[in-house]
This record gives sequence, structure tokens and C-alpha cells, in this order.
Amino acid sequence: MADRTPQKPRVLSGMRSTGKLHLGNFVGALDNWVKLQDRYDCFFFVADWHALTTDYADTSHIKQNSMEELLDWLAAGLDPERCTMFIQSHVPQHAELHLLLSMITPLGWLERVPTYKEQRENIKEKDLGTYGFLGYPVLQSADILIYKADYVPVGEDQVPHVELTREIARRFNMFYSGKREYVFPEPQPLLTPAAKLPGTDGRKMSKSYGNFINLSDPEPVVRQKLKTMVTDPARVRRNDPGEPDVCPVGDLHKIFSNQQTLAKVYEGCRTAGIGCIECKGWVADNVMAVLAPIQERRRPFEQNPKLAWDVLEAGSARARIVAQQTIEQAREAMNMSHLYQPPGGSK
Ligand code: SF4
Repeated sequence: MADRTPQKPRVLSGMRSTGKLHLGNFVGALDNWVKLQDRYDCFFFVADWHALTTDYADTSHIKQNSMEELLDWLAAGLDPERCTMFIQSHVPQHAELHLLLSMITPLGWLERVPTYKEQRENIKEKDLGTYGFLGYPVLQSADILIYKADYVPVGEDQVPHVELTREIARRFNMFYSGKREYVFPEPQPLLTPAAKLPGTDGRKMSKSYGNFINLSDPEPVVRQKLKTMVTDPARVRRNDPGEPDVCPVGDLHKIFSNQQTLAKVYEGCRTAGIGCIECKGWVADNVMAVLAPIQERRRPFEQNPKLAWDVLEAGSARARIVAQQTIEQAREAMNMSHLYQPPGGSK
């Protein structure tokens, strides 16, 4: 039932609405999205329903969080002329497909999802024993399949989710396609090289660890945060040699600095020729070189957030059109179309 002939393969990706994005989000996903938008027909969505799977008890910030996230997307260079940005809950077809897919998804498939087990064990402060939390991979599958996405950009740890989506698509096609063509193509993962981005305490940069640098942090804040960043623990005094390969600041240099600076860092650190403060100053310069244009692009949207909201509205309208076509095909395949059918008549 391939009714679309896109010039470019379609990519679908989303981010939970958690508010302002940090450097880890940029390096791990957003920077890649910006690059994908010219090569693919990209659909990017603010996953506000997904935010509910863990943060259902307090929704007071959810809309603001979606907005902040969108501002960062636009700031990073996502361009409404080159991709479709929308908000998940404004495209109710995701929910309908989620319901249909939930009917055919065996419970065992969901209980096996590695992130499900992991999060149930690690997040103790919230009750995740909910129907919605167990079912979030089905919602993810609906998000992907409703646009018949060809590719889903993911890190290694998310590959099982794409695999689950493929299994669900296959199962739907097996039950309902009959002699007709399959409704759902099986999406492929598009592996995103995951750069290790440490936070200021050396652990992975994350909102929940409070060790992050926001894309919108003003320069003095960025410099201050980097100044307090942990370093190679073996380098206690200024004249102790250090090792950039075990230092979180060294990891940042690998991402943000050029070869020349990197060579100076290795040489200076290993011979105690430079101090950590100096080394952190260089990394701050290079982080700011990335952040300054992002912050510059954010400004007009910050001053007039309605501009950004309009981008979401227009994107959501476009997404609804595509999603509606798919949902109609799914209904038809299941003999549940809205079209009149005389009693006793068969398709
Ligand atoms: S000089 Fe730089 S790389 Fe070496 S320990 Fe200090 S901060 Fe880390």
C-alpha cells in the first residue's frame, strides 16, 4: 500500500519534553538531526505523551518544557523549511494507532525490553508500575509506523526498540494484510555514533545528575561550570603529570577542540606543562564557539515564542495529514473503515 513516492527516505525521531536541552542532548542527537534534515524527509516530534509515562503525576511544566525544547531545536539549526517539527499530542492519530497496536502486542515482548527492566530497577522515586509505562514501546512503535518511517536514528541502546517496532509491524501485516500489500514497512535503525559526553562531575551528562551545561547557558555560566569540572584524579598538584584519556575535560576536548589544541592538551597535560585551569579555559573557548551561534539563533524565538509555536502548529498540521492517511489504511486493513458497507456485503 505504498502510496507515497517520497524523493527522500523518511526519518522519524522524537525527544521527550523535558525542557531546556543540554550539551549531551546536542552531541548525542540534535546535532545529528540537523545534519539529517537535508538527506532525509525528516519528522521530528516533541514527545509530550512519552513524558507522561514517567512524569504523569505533575504536568504543570509539560507545555513549557515542550516549548523550551522546541526553542533549542530551532536554535540548533532545525529548519521548518527543511523538516517537519511537531508535538506528539497534537497528532491524535498516534494514540489511535497505539491502541490498535496494543491489541496485538504480546505482554512478553514488552516485559523483555531492556530499558523497561532497567528503569523499573533504577527509578525508585516514581511508581512505574503503570499500564502506560509498560506500553511506551508500543507508543514508540505507533510514532514510527504512523509515518511509515524508513529510518529511525538511534544509539546502540535503542536498537531493541526499533526491532520491537519491526516485530509489531510484521505481526500487524500478518494478521491484517491478507492478499493486499502490507500496511506497514519495517523501519531500519540509523545508528548514531554515540560520542561520550561527560558532565561536570565526570558521569554521563544528564538532567537527573545536575551535571549539565545547557545550550542556552550564558557564557559566564558555561565557563564557571567548566571551571569546576572534575579532572584526572591523579593530577593532584600543578606539577603532577596527568592523562587526558582518563580526564573528563580531555573527553570534551576530543569533541570540541581541533587537532592542534588536542595535541597541546596531550603534550601539556602529560608533561605537567599546562595547568588544568588553562586547559579548561581552552575547552570553554571551543564549547562557546559552538554555543554562540546557537544562542544567537535562539534569541528571536525567545523574544517572540509565538513564532516557535507557529512552527509547531504548522508542522503538526502537516503531520496529521500524513498520519491520517496511514490510520485510514490501518482501519481498512482491519475492516474498520469509516466507509459505508451494505449489510452482508464483503470487501
Ligand atoms: S590538564 Fe586538562 S586533560 Fe590534563 S588533567 Fe587537567 S584538565 Fe584534564
